[in-house]
Amino acid sequence: TKDDVKTFLRRNAFVLLTIAAVVFGILMGFALRSYKMSYREVKYFSFPGELLMRMLQMLVLPLLVSSLITGMSALDSHASGKMGMRAVIYYMTTTFIAVFIGIIMVLIIHPGKGSKDEFTKQQKIEQVSPADAFLDLIRNMFPPNLVQACTQQFKTQYSKRIIHVKMIVNESIFNLTNTTQEIAQEEVIPLPGTTNGVNALGLVVFSMCFGLIIGNMKEQGQALRDFFDSLNEAIMRLVAIIMWYAPIGILFLIAGKIVEMDDITEMGGQLGMYTITVIIGLMIHGMIILPTLYFVITRKNPFIFITGLLQALITALGTSSSSATLPVTFKCLEENNKVDKRVTRFVLPVGATINMDGTALYEALAAIFIAQVNNMEMNFGQIITISITATAASIGAAGIPQAGLVTMVIVLTSVGLPTDDISLIIAVDWFLDRLRTTTNVLGDSIGAGIIEFLSKDELQNSDVELGSSVLEE
Ligand code: ASP
Repeated sequence: TKDDVKTFLRRNAFVLLTIAAVVFGILMGFALRSYKMSYREVKYFSFPGELLMRMLQMLVLPLLVSSLITGMSALDSHASGKMGMRAVIYYMTTTFIAVFIGIIMVLIIHPGKGSKDEFTKQQKIEQVSPADAFLDLIRNMFPPNLVQACTQQFKTQYSKRIIHVKMIVNESIFNLTNTTQEIAQEEVIPLPGTTNGVNALGLVVFSMCFGLIIGNMKEQGQALRDFFDSLNEAIMRLVAIIMWYAPIGILFLIAGKIVEMDDITEMGGQLGMYTITVIIGLMIHGMIILPTLYFVITRKNPFIFITGLLQALITALGTSSSSATLPVTFKCLEENNKVDKRVTRFVLPVGATINMDGTALYEALAAIFIAQVNNMEMNFGQIITISITATAASIGAAGIPQAGLVTMVIVLTSVGLPTDDISLIIAVDWFLDRLRTTTNVLGDSIGAGIIEFLSKDELQNSDVELGSSVLEE
């Protein structure tokens, strides 16, 4: 009936608007391509999209810190310990599965055809050991200066001569043909684990410890608990406002990208095959593995769960940043899927920072593709090294656009592949980045659903007094 239609529309207004935005964005983008806009015109055109990015990013720091602190303080240490273990197991398992799928796909499809013989003789490759990469990761968990961690990127310490992809640092939307040439050798790369100048990894570690402590402080901690609780609530209300703007932003982000992208004809041959291989890998992981895992554990319909996430997934597609998507992910999980706030507050910020299935899959796959292009056969040991470093690189990658391309340096150098060859795949990275970011967000969200299910008992027994917003609804 008419009323049913009305309620349906009202309830799903956001999702419908967002889907419409994607469709219009794509149509508009292709329609405007014939105008051959200049670089500046493209920047003007996609300005509304840039604004959405900035608004979402603006909220990430306070949201990350306040949700983790309140999330941890709302659980007793027994519950948070158990939940933490489950989260770590989930992150590790799914990341390894993702890496495995990536490797299998690239070995079966074999998109690289050995066009670049004998590179090794011309280039001396400096090898970074996986141990160095891990040490760096751990270093960043302990920022020596908290204020700096909120405002500044860290520098990696393990290698003096590492490729530096300018495009990512400058944060702007470049013309891709230019960026291919803009790859330059520099002293340092932006630190893995940073989010737009924020050392997210360090802040996550600090906030978790801090939350645990004030959770155990009884009355003495009450003032702090209330403070972060209402901070969190206030930020979520800001998110609700920004959500109204999101469809417009997404429309222009997508249209702008389509307007400026290179001609598709250039995608032929190996690069095309490579793109298809990545897409298939990500689809297997996102549409088969993760839903199956969700179903097997919770016995609930994964696709209903995923429908509730639609808006977050589209935002990930539009922004190619899992941390910019974080506010929307929170909204979807808590409001549509009714996941317990004590779980989301704990699991989502950590997930957005360290759990990146799509990125892990991508990095392993891309590294082997580059080996194939160089006519290098990877032996079993090297493949193992690639899977370990790809995992580390995905943990270290910041949730910002194309961060995975930077941390790929770790994977390549660990097996002696030429880092310059990142330029081979840069032309399609903007696109694959969007897909892997979507997979990352999906992985985090399904994780929240699974961990909530497994932690039912602890959540029921958790006797620690909860902040107002936790009890709300
Ligand atoms: N853009 C991805 C994310 O935000 C990271 C990557 O480049 O793989 O999740």
